[in-house]
Amino acid sequence: MRSLGLFSYRCAGCGQLARTTCEHCASKIALCPTPNCSDAIVALSYDGLVRDLMLAFKYQNHRTLATLFADHLVSILRKTAEINSVDVVTWVPTTCERRIARGHDQAETLARLIGRLLGIPVRKLLIRETVGHQTGKSRENRLIGISLRARSMNTPITVLVVDDVVTTGATMRSAQRALYQAGAASVICAAVASTPAPAPRR
Ligand SMILES: [Zn+2]
Repeated sequence: MRSLGLFSYRCAGCGQLARTTCEHCASKIALCPTPNCSDAIVALSYDGLVRDLMLAFKYQNHRTLATLFADHLVSILRKTAEINSVDVVTWVPTTCERRIARGHDQAETLARLIGRLLGIPVRKLLIRETVGHQTGKSRENRLIGISLRARSMNTPITVLVVDDVVTTGATMRSAQRALYQAGAASVICAAVASTPAPAPRR
């Protein structure tokens, strides 16, 4: 029997053997409608194929998926008027534990690609702060417990903050607040995908 080889790759969308995301899945993504999201400029709805590809990107660090998502979000951003005023691209940092477990910070990977595509510098402006121990807190407290701080800015600049998936919007609001407190003139939020309906609050 012929071995598939160590470096064989399967399309993260449909499982067929392909060197990158297969053409069929890539074209499906290109045709996905842009969802309505009040928290950020969003390219895709986080379900079905998008969800499968996003999970593969996060946990298997498929570079081709990062490019696919970044290209798609950039094409949406280029249709907005705000994009022309952006001075710096940054990202919502993931937790240190997740970055180590996954081998990369997926939001940083996206921000760096997006910055390159747009020709805008990318800077690490946001720092995630640990607020006490998460153990023993209720789910709601854990959700609220996202604390972000931003490096202070010498001049008031317009910042594009990038994340992979927007769920409740709490993280984006926290990032926005931190950047304004640090002296940003304007903050534009963008994400590859948003969950179709707001997560239920308990
Ligand atoms: Zn496929």
